[in-house]
Amino acid sequence: MDVSVKKMVVGGIEIKVLKKPIKNLHISVHPPDGWVRVSAPLYFGEKAIRLAVIKRLSWIKKHQERIRSQARQSQREMVSGESHFFLGKRYILQLKEKRGKQQGVKIRGERMYLNIRPGADRKRRLYVLNEWYRSKLKALLLEMVSKWERKMGVSVREFRIKRMKTRWGSCNPLARRIWLNLELVKKPPHLIEYVLVHEMVHFFEGRHNGNFKALMDKFLPNWRLYRDELNRSQITE
Ligand SMILES: [Zn+2]
Repeated sequence: MDVSVKKMVVGGIEIKVLKKPIKNLHISVHPPDGWVRVSAPLYFGEKAIRLAVIKRLSWIKKHQERIRSQARQSQREMVSGESHFFLGKRYILQLKEKRGKQQGVKIRGERMYLNIRPGADRKRRLYVLNEWYRSKLKALLLEMVSKWERKMGVSVREFRIKRMKTRWGSCNPLARRIWLNLELVKKPPHLIEYVLVHEMVHFFEGRHNGNFKALMDKFLPNWRLYRDELNRSQITE
């Protein structure tokens, strides 16, 4: 879901500029890598935006540093006792070393059991977890895609699950292809559905204009709430 209208580089920092019918300019810095979004009133030109960003450059850099250090700290060690999310719920990771082919994840109550071979390192554990996440997200999306294909009267030729740093999803309307961020598997299903519907609406309307919003209102009346909920949430890995 690329909400940016335009990218700019100011003081060596890349920013995404989003024009909105608002009164004041807002600057925000986002995890996981400290990317910067500027929401500017519609009448603001490039020069005015540049000036406003330059004025707050030291504030931006301070926040970027804070976010990046948080991201480093929250990097998972993949050991028992850690919190990991699945479909919006928090689980406690429990490592189980097993010989043979029984690698994977099982959910029991509030625990997430990660079955791995003895001696599997952090990278291998994360790989096993991510493969499980990917298969779960794929199964969920298969259901959601066919439900929304019926509701919207369009077909999705292909969807792919990818790891992306700054986007929840993207699409290629001509190829009828949708890419969704693997991170979505950590969010509640209604937010996954929101991102999917957003990308599918792009099959009808490429831009985030009034027509796009009218279609979102028609298909998913609460989409603004979901968008805000998703923007508030953090990317956790
Ligand atoms: Zn979009």
